[in-house]
Amino acid sequence: MTVTAHVAAGVPMNLSGLTPPEPFRWFPYLGARHAVPRRPVLPGAQIESLCGDELIVPNVEPPKYPDWLWPECAACDSRWREKTGRSKRPQLPAPGGARGARP
Ligand SMILES: [Zn+2]
Repeated sequence: MTVTAHVAAGVPMNLSGLTPPEPFRWFPYLGARHAVPRRPVLPGAQIESLCGDELIVPNVEPPKYPDWLWPECAACDSRWREKTGRSKRPQLPAPGGARGARP
């Protein structure tokens, strides 16, 4: 029996069969959720998001509401999808755009 691995460019092959750890985490900051490398950081540390913003780790954990309801940073989302081998975010039609096509 032959096993073929399909590997996205730049994403390490997973031979363990286990779900690999996520290399990034989402971090709410100033109105948007940014993707940052998943590694231990101390409060007050400066970390760079995938979109290039410099974020300061707060002394207290951000509140779940409303911070975790903020939209994803579009640039972080795009780069996160590239780096983790995920497909691009699908483009949804504008609300009301298909109104004429319905019976
Ligand atoms: Zn960002």
